[in-house]
Amino acid sequence: MQTTSRTFTLIKPNAVAAGATGKILDRLIADGFRIRALKMDFLSRNRAARFYTVHRGKPFFEDLVRFMTSGAVVAAVLERDGERAVEALRTLVGATDPARAAAGTIRREFGESVTRNAIHASDSPENAREEWSRFFTPDEITEIDYTPEV
Ligand code: ATP
Ligand code: MG
Repeated sequence: MQTTSRTFTLIKPNAVAAGATGKILDRLIADGFRIRALKMDFLSRNRAARFYTVHRGKPFFEDLVRFMTSGAVVAAVLERDGERAVEALRTLVGATDPARAAAGTIRREFGESVTRNAIHASDSPENAREEWSRFFTPDEITEIDYTPEV
C-alpha cells in the first residue's frame, strides 16, 4: 500500500480577509496535497493563546494573539503521498518573515509582515496531530477516497 503522511495548516486572518483562501487552497492542491478536513473558524483569545503556547512570554506574543483573533481562520488537515508532508508544506509555505521567504512560496505571495504572514504550517507530525485535534473531531476527517460510481 502507498505510504501517505499528513500535516495541518491554518490560513491566517489577513489571508482570509483578503479573499485569498481559494488561491491558497489551489496552491496546496497543485503541490500534491489532498484536503482531508476543512473548516472556517474563529479563535477566541484563549484558543489562540493555547495554539501558540510555545511563544508565551515572547515580545511578539500579544500582537500574535491579537492578530489571530482579528478575523476568521481556515483550518485544514492535508495529506500527500510519501512520508514528508510536514517538510513539504513548510517548504511551500516559506520562511516566517515573508520578506525573506523564497520566490514562489505562499508567504512570499500572500504575507504582509512577520506577524501577518498568511498561513501556519505544523513543524512536526506530532504537533500536526495535536493542532488538528483542536479544530476537528476524528469524524470530521475524511478517511476514504471518493470513487464516483459508473
Ligand atoms: P507558524 O508556527 O505560524 O507556522 P513559523 O513556524 O514559521 O510559523 P514560529 O517561530 O512558530 O514561526 O512563530 C509563530 C508565529 O509567530 C509566526 O508565524 C509569526 O506570525 C509570529 N512570529 C514569530 N516570530 C516573530 C517575530 N519575531 N515578530 C513578530 N511575530 C513573530
Ligand atoms: Mg511554528
